[in-house]
Amino acid sequence: MTERTERSEGREDMRGRHRMTALDLLDIDASLGEEEREIRAVVRRLVDDRVRPHVAGWYEDGQVPARELAREFGKLGLLGMHLTGYGCAGASAVAYGLACLELEAGDSGVRSLVSVQGSLAMYAIWRYGSEEQKQRWLPAMATGEAIGCFGLTEPDHGSDPASMATRARRDGDDWILDGAKMWITNAPIADVAVIWARTDDGVRGFAVPMDTPGVTAREIRRKMSLRASLTGEVVLDGVRLPADARLPEAVGLKAPLSCLTEARHGIVWGALGAARDCLETTLEYATTRTQFGRPLAGFQLTQAKLADMAVEWNKGLLLALHLGRLADAGSLRPAQVSVGKLNNVREALAIARQCRTILGANGVSGEYPIMRHANNLESVLTYEGTSEIHQLVIGQTLTGVSAFA
Ligand SMILES: Cc1cc2nc3c(=O)[nH]c(=O)nc-3n(C[C@H](O)[C@H](O)[C@H](O)COP(=O)(O)OP(=O)(O)OC[C@H]3O[C@@H](n4cnc5c(N)ncnc54)[C@H](O)[C@@H]3O)c2cc1C
Repeated sequence: MTERTERSEGREDMRGRHRMTALDLLDIDASLGEEEREIRAVVRRLVDDRVRPHVAGWYEDGQVPARELAREFGKLGLLGMHLTGYGCAGASAVAYGLACLELEAGDSGVRSLVSVQGSLAMYAIWRYGSEEQKQRWLPAMATGEAIGCFGLTEPDHGSDPASMATRARRDGDDWILDGAKMWITNAPIADVAVIWARTDDGVRGFAVPMDTPGVTAREIRRKMSLRASLTGEVVLDGVRLPADARLPEAVGLKAPLSCLTEARHGIVWGALGAARDCLETTLEYATTRTQFGRPLAGFQLTQAKLADMAVEWNKGLLLALHLGRLADAGSLRPAQVSVGKLNNVREALAIARQCRTILGANGVSGEYPIMRHANNLESVLTYEGTSEIHQLVIGQTLTGVSAFA
């Protein structure tokens, strides 16, 4: 570990003691239940102990002990925590959201590990899999012994998955898969990939063990964002699968899209975690650094920035809580999740950039977490539907007119 990383660990630990003080301007905390607050506290402690002290180094090195973390997250019941049965915790959507917020206050990459495992890979199997597939994968995934990934995006097909080129064709009872999936979180260490492919009958999903002959995963390096997360390309070259590898209940593109709605709900909360860490760092910095004989926090221009950011953060949390309560009531609609993802990621990124200005030159230093969060949020802005795609979803809901193509 570098000297710089060790110094940054000390600073992040110190900041941890001052957290969650003035930011909750609206007493939103008071509307959380006892169990929700307890889950949040447990995840916050885990992030303080296991993520915060190391994450600057992981980010810098582009490496993360993902398997080790997954086992620890599994022990706490964080993997697939909002699912029921098969070793999953069956927590509320709000509790899951709060966990995502705390994880992303550590790092968006660490939250992505949990989101992809629980909301994409596990949810797909839980919602669309056969009983055998559930028994085979879910208990091991809930403990973190098995890692899952979710392959929808392709090198030439991102926002428009309906045009995917990966094909699955029948050969007797078997299926043969050919194609490539790109930008797949967790792929380099995954044991199972949920792969979406075009068949003669439309899009279908498959649970593909990563050790099946013909499957290769190559890590995507040189990312400038989400560096504490493993991302890969999955190539499928004549991959022969038995008939029971297909997720029997997944029919058409609406199946993978429903998984994305699940995961986006976590992002609505998670992005606020990254923003909170930026704000808390900045509040402490602005009250301790002096220029022109007074703390930065004493300048009206700085206070205007802080006030505007805190207002946006509180609005974002109200929005997340509202959507979480709708999810718990079973009435959350995809367009509503688009409102949350569009707003909260966009505002979190704006907050990170504004906080950066208040730290001056230190804002670009890896000794503080702000540039890391800002860079991470660039990926969060793009994955699980770009901002433009969510604008189109909302636009279609408002006007009844599709402007996608
Ligand atoms: C770090 C990281 C991890 C990821 N993890 C996963 C994963 O685990 N699984 C997975 O399947 N995918 C994953 N992705 C992929 C991600 O979901 C896609 O990058 C995303 O859907 C956008 O696709 P694209 O990058 O091909 O961009 P494109 O679709 O090529 O879009 C490029 C730009 O054009 C805009 N655009 C596209 N269509 C329209 C339109 N109709 N109107 C207006 N503007 C439009 C977009 O908004 C964007 O600004 C990940 C991506 C990243 C960066």
